[in-house]
Order: sequence, then C-alpha cells, then structure tokens
Amino acid sequence: MVNLDEVRQIIKDSNNIVFFGGAGVSTASGVPDFRSATGLYNRENNSKYSPEYMLSHEFFVDHPDEFMTYCKENLILDGVKPNKAHKALAKLEERGKLKGIITQNIDSLHQEAGSKNVVELHGNLRDYYCTSCGKAFDLDYVKGFDGEVTCDRCGSLIRPDIVLYGESLNQDKLSYAINLIASADVLIVGGTSLVVYPAAGLIDFYRGNKLIVINMYPTPKDKMADFLIQGDISKVMDELVEGIDE
Ligand SMILES: [Zn+2]
Repeated sequence: MVNLDEVRQIIKDSNNIVFFGGAGVSTASGVPDFRSATGLYNRENNSKYSPEYMLSHEFFVDHPDEFMTYCKENLILDGVKPNKAHKALAKLEERGKLKGIITQNIDSLHQEAGSKNVVELHGNLRDYYCTSCGKAFDLDYVKGFDGEVTCDRCGSLIRPDIVLYGESLNQDKLSYAINLIASADVLIVGGTSLVVYPAAGLIDFYRGNKLIVINMYPTPKDKMADFLIQGDISKVMDELVEGIDE
C-alpha cells in the first residue's frame, strides 16, 4: 500500500515533474474514453462502421461527410469542463513545479484549466486546416457546416488537427515529449491503459526513481512504478496537491 504522504512530499520537494496522461484524466469531466466498458468502442452507434474505422485516415478520405458528423456527435462536446486532475496539474505548473504535460487526449481540457506547456500527442479539436491549401480554421467555422467542411479559399476538404488511425504521430512533438520525460525528476503517469504504442513506450525513457502511476485498473507497466496508486485520478491528484503551498 502506497503511503500518500510520501508521494505528496516527493511532489512538494520537486521542481521538475512531468505528467503523462490519457483518456482516464478526462472521464470525470464526462469525456468518453475509447476502451472502457462505456467508451466509444463499446458504445452502440447508428452506423455500420466501427469507431476505430470511422476515426481512420481512410474513412476520412472516403466518407468525409460521415467522418465530420461522427466527430461532432462523439468527440466535439459542448459544456465539458476541466476536473480536479486538470486543475491540480495546472496549479503545479503555476507553482513552478511541473515542467510539462504530455497527453493522449484531444479535448484541450488541460489548457482550459490553465496549463501552458501541453504536448498533445494526438492533436486537438480546436484547430482545423484545409487538406489542400493548408489554411487554418477554428471550431466556430466548422460548426457552421453540416457534414463535410470545405475551405472558403479553395473549396477543398477541411479536417481536424488530430492524428487518425493510419497516420503517424508528429515527430517533433514525440521528440519533445521524450526529452521532457528523459530529463524529468518525477514522472506521474495517470489515466492511461498504457497499451497503445508508441505512446505507451514513452515512459521507458524515464531514468529517475520516482515514477508514480495512478490508475483505476492495472496496466502492463505497473511493475515499473515506484509508487502505484489505484484510484480515480481526479480524486488522487487533488489529494496529492493538497497543502502544496504550506
Ligand atoms: Zn483550402
């Protein structure tokens, strides 16, 4: 059983913490994850296609209309707010303790909570661009369309700046994330099942001896953890930063 006071003290003593997180960080905000029982992959949808296929590069090219409709109905969520985990991490950064956040999420909730240095490995749903001329667009522009979205300059298709299945991660972001992790004093990993590569392999770059893993369910990397905390990350992070200013 991990002593939370000990972990709290480690966080209090460090000014070089890095956080690496996944879908579980946002579930308390009401953002569906992908793989859990209530996640997108296990959810009934009205389409004959699987969610994995509908979020693939191939599907976007072949069915841009259904692709955008799927994104709007399942991924672009109105009224979703940061939870205690996002807020705790923003506070750690503000206090000069946390160097950066690496996230697999595309919901922008870390930025909304006030975090500045956020590496969005899978992109985000704030930014859109024309697949032909590259012109940038925002969500408001996209919301003005039903189905596929087209460029007001050249008429070509617009897509969200997210990484689809069948596409590679941005190499610059990946290198930056690896550097953050490799030079971190404390690495906190939370809300991720750590099964999807290359993201799951990132924690192998950590060289310290203060790896804190916070998850609801066991992960394949649990044995690497110096401190393994089972629980809801929004509650655990809130408890861990409690009294950080004292
Ligand atoms: Zn264009």
